[in-house]
Amino acid sequence: SVPLGFFSGIGTASKNGILIKGSNYLEYLSKAEIFVFDKTGTLTKGVFKVTKINNQKDISEEELLEYAAYAEYYSNHPIGVSIVKAYNKDINKNEIKDYNEISGHGISVNVKGKKVLAGNSKLMNKENIKYEEVKEIGTIVHIAVDSKYYGYLIISDEIKDDAKKAIEGLRKLKIKNIVMLTGDSKVVAENVAKELNLNSVEAELLPDQKVEKVKELYKTKSPKGTLVFTGDGINDAPVLAIADVGVAMGGLGSDAAIEAADMVIMNDEPSKLIDSIKISRRTEKIVW
Ligand code: ADP
Ligand code: MG
Repeated sequence: SVPLGFFSGIGTASKNGILIKGSNYLEYLSKAEIFVFDKTGTLTKGVFKVTKINNQKDISEEELLEYAAYAEYYSNHPIGVSIVKAYNKDINKNEIKDYNEISGHGISVNVKGKKVLAGNSKLMNKENIKYEEVKEIGTIVHIAVDSKYYGYLIISDEIKDDAKKAIEGLRKLKIKNIVMLTGDSKVVAENVAKELNLNSVEAELLPDQKVEKVKELYKTKSPKGTLVFTGDGINDAPVLAIADVGVAMGGLGSDAAIEAADMVIMNDEPSKLIDSIKISRRTEKIVW
């Protein structure tokens, strides 16, 4: 039978906006040693703004943004959503065909009869497009139309104030290893990691590379300790599934992530982890 303390722990957590899918996760949480975070939507707001449009000579700024917005029309990714919002004009869906979102890369789609690519340097490399190297902080979305490079958009995100609170809280609880894994570029990732004083950061990872990194981290913890992964969920379901405790953001998170997670933070504030750990440590004391 399950000791009563577990139920009160889950109950207390749920009153605090934290859903925990089983009593075992409270136990694992009380033993957490390594915290792994996704960046976008988890430590950063995930509400991107287009801050720069850099068009090549043979296309206008407006046309470049138009191709980008058509390409991203069906995307739920925060990057795609921000591009459609920046365009802010009606989009004729009949002109969008063969939509294909390539996770960790971007979009390949037919717009007005032309093959449009919108994504990072990995996507450009994959499709053999020569692109401009950009060394600015921000997520770069390159655009190519019928194999011709047309320029890029820079999209910026902000660190959540609550992320600072979360990391500081974890330090107070004596968590020594806090890691960020992200699909985003090195410049952006390192900037966030420095700002939040994280122990380490790995960037430009595809979803299965995130899984590999988590497996490597498992080897560095003590036998009794556990690993907690927290993500907004877009492309994170595989890592959520292998972590001892997989935590998803309930607001921004995708249905697949909420499904794959062991815990859900309803209001997307990572500092809820601190409350959860405190509840779990208290509950463990009551139970044992
Ligand atoms: P993370 O959430 O860690 O940033 P993702 O796997 O969601 O990782 O995305 C990784 C990278 O793939 C993004 O930073 C971006 O460069 C590119 N990307 C993903 N989806 C899109 C999209 N819809 N449009 C353009 N680029 C995208
Ligand atoms: Mg993500």
